[in-house]
Amino acid sequence: MEYPTLLPRFLKYVKINSRSDEHATCFPSTQREVDFQKVVMQDLVDLGLSDVHYNQQAGAVIAEIPATTTTIVPVIGFLAHCDTADFNSENIRPQITKNYDGQSKIQLGDSDFYLDPAIFPHLHDYQGQTIISASGDTLLGGDDKCGVSELVTLAEYLLAHPEIKHGRIRLAFTPDEEIGTGASHFDVADFGAAFAFTVDGEKPGKLDWGTFSAAQFELSIQGVDVHPAVAKGQMVSALKIARDFQNSLPAKEVPEQTSGKEGFFHLCHLSGTVDHAQLEYIIRDFERDGLETRKQMIRDIVDRLNATLGTSRISLKMHDQYYNMADELKQHPEIVDLARAAYRDLGLKINEDPVRGGTDGSQLTYMGLPCPNLFAGEENMHGRYEYTVLESMYLAVDVLVRIVSRLAEAPIK
Ligand SMILES: [Zn+2]
Repeated sequence: MEYPTLLPRFLKYVKINSRSDEHATCFPSTQREVDFQKVVMQDLVDLGLSDVHYNQQAGAVIAEIPATTTTIVPVIGFLAHCDTADFNSENIRPQITKNYDGQSKIQLGDSDFYLDPAIFPHLHDYQGQTIISASGDTLLGGDDKCGVSELVTLAEYLLAHPEIKHGRIRLAFTPDEEIGTGASHFDVADFGAAFAFTVDGEKPGKLDWGTFSAAQFELSIQGVDVHPAVAKGQMVSALKIARDFQNSLPAKEVPEQTSGKEGFFHLCHLSGTVDHAQLEYIIRDFERDGLETRKQMIRDIVDRLNATLGTSRISLKMHDQYYNMADELKQHPEIVDLARAAYRDLGLKINEDPVRGGTDGSQLTYMGLPCPNLFAGEENMHGRYEYTVLESMYLAVDVLVRIVSRLAEAPIK
């Protein structure tokens, strides 16, 4: 159905710059995120939600939609993140194309950039619908202001319709998702939900509960630099060792040659001289065993090269980043089933392709808050071609209403 306040609310939110900063040393990473959260918080207070507060530890705004039933229903949570991705977010001017014809190119403001169905064929799916884009020089910020405005709209709708029976619903508006640091601060106890969903996904029907398991490592390589004229038998090039390391990895297991459920090693950063080299990699695998196998492969290569060099010239620092939430969620199939049932109620075609990345839910699930991800209507995230579709956002709110209603009708444990 149509929610008349959703579009104005979304437009108001995307105009507020709330970009996070991966180089910041503080948490939350930027004051602008907090300033945006204060706007959302005031809106929640004005709508009359309960327990609206800012949790300092989590850097998150928390609120509750009180129960409208006396039946015992598990407390459900929904989360959306308030920061936007690492792309220009100053002076965002959202542009609305109503009744899109499904064929034309949409010029982004007066820039030389276009949303072109020849390049983005999914635009064909939105004939007759309302496309909201940016104006060429910024991102839109629909990731995740779609989710933020959908949750606030859900609250407004349910508070206006007490005849819709549901249990307690907890909402969280979190920081620093885009830089991967927000979820680890989350206060699961204060949130107080038995399980939750992040609302931060793509087109209607997308349901994310499988993600990569992830690790990161750094190599620090110490060489010996002497004048090339007298180098024989003395020079040890850190750059050459770096090259040998890279060449020891399976050549085809890289992001640009993998898809679906295939994992990879990815060299993200390389700098160095003969004297010293520094490399940063990420490792991704859908299987936890697969991740461990890959990590062991790295340790073995480092050991072998160090043995060949006769001394420990390569030092390795490796840590896990997040795990595939599917491993945990398989033990709570009723949670994903609840979302599936809501999608089906609305006639949506369900797409459960695993995410070749992580979500806040990847961490939250392992912190004791099982947390799949629902679609929010985001398209072409993280750049100037980002857009959303108003009708997708309406559907996202419909799904949330269906989920809480179904949960009250047939409470899961
Ligand atoms: Zn997002």
